[in-house]
Amino acid sequence: MRSWSWFLSRVMRLFLRWFRLCPRRGRRKRPSRIRDLWNYGTLLLKSLHYNVLTNSDTVLDCVFEPIYWLVDNMTRWFGVVFVSLVILLTSSVVIIVYLCVLPIIFSTYPVHWILWHLCYGHWNLLMLVYHYYKATTTCPGSPPQEKSEIPTVTICKKCIVPKPARTHHCSICNRCILKMDHHCPWLNNCVGHFNHRYFFSFCLFMTMACIYCSISAKDMFLDAYNAIESSYQTPPPPAFTHQERMVHKSLVYLWVLTSSVAVALGALTLWHAVLITRGETSVERHINRKERKRLRLKGKVFRNPYHHGKMNNWKIFLGVEKQSDWLTRVLLPSGHLPHGDGLTWDGPSHRINTMAI
Ligand SMILES: [Zn+2]
Ligand SMILES: [Zn+2]
Repeated sequence: MRSWSWFLSRVMRLFLRWFRLCPRRGRRKRPSRIRDLWNYGTLLLKSLHYNVLTNSDTVLDCVFEPIYWLVDNMTRWFGVVFVSLVILLTSSVVIIVYLCVLPIIFSTYPVHWILWHLCYGHWNLLMLVYHYYKATTTCPGSPPQEKSEIPTVTICKKCIVPKPARTHHCSICNRCILKMDHHCPWLNNCVGHFNHRYFFSFCLFMTMACIYCSISAKDMFLDAYNAIESSYQTPPPPAFTHQERMVHKSLVYLWVLTSSVAVALGALTLWHAVLITRGETSVERHINRKERKRLRLKGKVFRNPYHHGKMNNWKIFLGVEKQSDWLTRVLLPSGHLPHGDGLTWDGPSHRINTMAI
């Protein structure tokens, strides 16, 4: 029995030493890595527990931090896939329009309708491509890293730099964004001060293009759908050629895709139009709603400092300073810069300038 107990004790010691739970004979001590983790965890818990600023939001943030990290990284990598998808689907629709829809229009429509489709269709396509390119490639703008005289509201706890008004940190881009609206995976870019107009114009022209395609190709879609359906009937109708079958399938694909995108993107565009009318970004919408509720409980009324009247908000957003700008800056591709530098927000001067129009 003695020899067995001695043998077992040797095995247990070897086992524990292997796991680094017993580094030296006769001395019980946690291994350094586990001890470090333990100390770090204890410090985190204590700092959360004794911090006067800790609330349920901070605790939830800490708990969900690994999930945020995963979502941020996935969004960053999926951005490239999403942009490729936008280019691929848009190109497929344009090719179908050129190969299937336009030949039908040329052969069956009167001249004035042909001219209308040629002019409107190409103008819409030009505006869509231009604004998508600009929205993806234009930097939304970040506050300066070096010390400057700009008025700041707070300090970003991630970048450790002063944040001007309307600036927010994007965890996907991992930097602060001036007048941040949101991070758009379909652009693989943040929507901020310098590309907000491009983003909205892209949404608007994409929705218009989808509505235009689904209305223009509705009769062609119905004919193609009936032709596909009739091929399953008995007795079978006269067989279509391979080319005709491909045209039918392409027209059905075109109509289903454009009408679905028109509904989904149309709702999003409408929502952004409401926000622009109110002089808010998507981030500010949540902040202002909380602030409005908080002040209402105190018997006070919240006023958005960036709201300069519905029409003025649109003029500031679109960069319209004189009447001709509606044509040159809104209805034609324009690379003009937005009002201001995104660091300071001088509302009243905007109001005076734009109201003088
Ligand atoms: Zn930041
Ligand atoms: Zn971002």
